[in-house]
Amino acid sequence: MHMIFIGVESTAHTFGVGVMNSQGEVLANVKDSYSSADGGMIPDKVAKHHEEVAERILAEAFRVAGIAWKDVNFIAYSAGPGLDPALWAGYRIVSAWASTEGKKLVGVNHCCAHLSIGKVWNKLDDPCYLYVSGVNTQIIVEERLSEGKYQIIGETLDIGLGNMLDKFGRILGLGFPAGAKIEELAKRGKYVELPYTVKGMDASFSGILTKADQLFKRGIASREDLCFSMQETSFAMLAEVVERAMAHTGKKELLLVGGVGANTRFCEMLDIMCAQRGARFFKVPMDLAGDQGAMIAWEGYLRRGSYGNISVKPHWRTDEV
Ligand code: AMP
Ligand code: MG
Repeated sequence: MHMIFIGVESTAHTFGVGVMNSQGEVLANVKDSYSSADGGMIPDKVAKHHEEVAERILAEAFRVAGIAWKDVNFIAYSAGPGLDPALWAGYRIVSAWASTEGKKLVGVNHCCAHLSIGKVWNKLDDPCYLYVSGVNTQIIVEERLSEGKYQIIGETLDIGLGNMLDKFGRILGLGFPAGAKIEELAKRGKYVELPYTVKGMDASFSGILTKADQLFKRGIASREDLCFSMQETSFAMLAEVVERAMAHTGKKELLLVGGVGANTRFCEMLDIMCAQRGARFFKVPMDLAGDQGAMIAWEGYLRRGSYGNISVKPHWRTDEV
């Protein structure tokens, strides 16, 4: 018999419950994400959102997977990193479920979960990871001799790429999150120059945001041109630093994870870069790219021997796991 377990995601705008088995199969992955028409992510509203949707999302996940509490071996939850109020809301919810149903809690690192779900889905052995979400922009490799121990070899020096897109989206009045809307507008844009800043295997995005903001407010460049140029510049920067990281580490596989991985143009550029150096590019399907519960479930399965009820860890880095 396979073991069945659930994973609960609540680090940022998404509340999700995923159901998986020990074969690495996703039996259900239901989520509801906070969004807003004008503001960004208001932490207390996000926490309230999670509390309001939790029971409904759990019931839906159980229904899709065709399981009940008696089938669940343990509850994995995202302990961090993330927004304090959102994490605590999630922790209160899973603590209540665990005590009512008598289940073990396994707190996991949200970033590691993005990596491990991509790895199992693509059946990869030892890829170079590019993790690009709202807050995080990191190039990661697994330490050669210890599986599950990660090293960050390149990262943003200021804001995450997703945050840059969301902040610019807010300037344009696109609502939150803005990544997908920027991708649409970019299809009708042409190139204007924006600051291209890379240092070794790190990159910096705040200069792009500042410059784009100025060009937009002064009416010098259109929304479409700025969206296009912001994408081209930041994606090219990341393609450059990732290529350097792959050359340094000798990795032949690149795996893109995180919400920005939903961007078709970004995937295309990374695919071309990999093809040119005889490497292979992998991504995860849309429903596993952004935040969701299945990845938390799988990471919990992998770490169930070393982690348990660890409360919340808002600043938990990938390389501290
Ligand atoms: P995550 O935290 O992994 O769920 O990723 C969320 C981030 O992904 C947000 O910053 C979104 O704006 C961004 N995002 C979602 N879809 C796209 C897209 N099609 N293009 C670029 N960014 C996107
Ligand atoms: Mg994430």
